[in-house]
Amino acid sequence: MTAKSITYSSTRGTQKSLSFRTAVMTGLAHDRGLFVPDTFPTVTSEELESWRSLSYADLATEVIGKYVGEDQVPRKVLEGIVQRSCGAFRSEEVTPVVKVDGHYVLELFHGPTFAFKDVALQMLGNFFEYFLSTGSNGGRLAVMGATSGDTGSAAIYGLRGKKGVDCIILFPEGRVSEIQERQMTTVKDGNIHCVSVEGTFDDCQDIVKASFNDKAFRDRVKLGAVNSINWCRVLAQTTYYFWSYLRVMDKEKDVTKVNFSVPTGNFGDILAGYYSKRMGLPVGDLIVATNENDILHRFFTTGEYHREEIHKSISPSMDICVSSNFERYLYHLAGDDATTLASWMSAFESTGKLTITGKKLDEARADFKSARADTANTLETIKKYYNEFNYMLCPHSAVGVSAIHQLDTANSATVALATAHFAKFGDAVSMAIDPLPEIPKELSQLWSMETRKSKCPNDAKVVQAFMEKRIEERVRNEEVDGKRKKTLRQLVLVSAAVAIVAVLMRRRK
Ligand SMILES: *Cc1c(COP(=O)(O)O)cnc(C)c1O
Repeated sequence: MTAKSITYSSTRGTQKSLSFRTAVMTGLAHDRGLFVPDTFPTVTSEELESWRSLSYADLATEVIGKYVGEDQVPRKVLEGIVQRSCGAFRSEEVTPVVKVDGHYVLELFHGPTFAFKDVALQMLGNFFEYFLSTGSNGGRLAVMGATSGDTGSAAIYGLRGKKGVDCIILFPEGRVSEIQERQMTTVKDGNIHCVSVEGTFDDCQDIVKASFNDKAFRDRVKLGAVNSINWCRVLAQTTYYFWSYLRVMDKEKDVTKVNFSVPTGNFGDILAGYYSKRMGLPVGDLIVATNENDILHRFFTTGEYHREEIHKSISPSMDICVSSNFERYLYHLAGDDATTLASWMSAFESTGKLTITGKKLDEARADFKSARADTANTLETIKKYYNEFNYMLCPHSAVGVSAIHQLDTANSATVALATAHFAKFGDAVSMAIDPLPEIPKELSQLWSMETRKSKCPNDAKVVQAFMEKRIEERVRNEEVDGKRKKTLRQLVLVSAAVAIVAVLMRRRK
């Protein structure tokens, strides 16, 4: 473990050398840049070898401990945060690695919501709780997010029951799949508030944006965000690249470097792979696998990072028109130069176009390979893996697997990341496989559970008023609860004292 923690600066240059705590609690930099580490800790091959026997949680403590020193989070506390985060997973290995068709699959869907964002959000929730309990943000944080289905539940499960945190999730009424809605609305913790908005996903996002732009509201409720750009999420994901590398090394004698294929949308997942490589993990190819929303595949083939309309696909968690974490990679591609990056981003934001040529493009293409899988490729892959290997892929995972076949890297040195359980995307998967295999009981029992949500009109002011009321109620309930406990404690003490006095009096007689 490093004695001193790594510091962070904004990709756009105005905030520099911040602590881990500040980077995590702030999320997005004030200049709208993203926080990147100022240096990368290194891992030697001896160290890597010594990590081979570690459990997932112990490995995570080592990897995260490379960034987060005692000055930020005491080692014992870090161990506790990691243990609790891993404890939310159904598999003891947290993210098991299995061999299918001569290559490996890294299963990232054994968390509470059956998708890979659990890995990061469990950790983020526990870090928030620790930082709030030790004075950050006045001890309170209200998290507001909009979801079209998938990320909302991962945030809810990451934040449920966390002290000092309120979580409000907006989703468009009648427009998220029933299973996704039930994953959110069956959570009963008092600090979780699900709101179905009479509008579209974009309306929900606009309400979140308007709320962040309303300074008075933001300060009153202590508003924060859990979007995919929080540094903590990338850091949490780094562990499973080390983990799966070590598991491949356990089995393969002739492999020296491991390739990873990553179903990609906002670039947060694969970025953790890129950072692992910079830390010294022997990574071969990093494959960016996209669906029809292929801005990143187009970038890595032609150098054109050009915004297009969003297409609705069967892998909806990768439906993006710009890729939010990509800015972090562009910053490194610009030679860690915030001035260059800021000018790239401002050109992109005003024209929707950024074109990289020459040496920089060569460099980018050396760092990443890419492939695109459309609906037909995706369904074909799902069908093939089920029929030939009896292995179920979700549509996102199938995009990543399709990529390794397209690029001829479906071999024993390759890991395809499986980002969700098939049962979460039953409608899409049943286009390839009918009837579907049985779904896990944790998902099927959602239909018999009580649900709880509040409906709101498509109006930021109404949503904000609702949120303030709910926070007030929760705080009051906690206070009443606290007082009740105190009164009860006093009552117990008084009766004990009375009993003792009574005994003594009787003895005297
Ligand atoms: C979010 C998500 C992705 C995309 O990950 P990024 O970090 O945004 O690239 C892929 N698959 C699933 C199931 C997801 O939820």
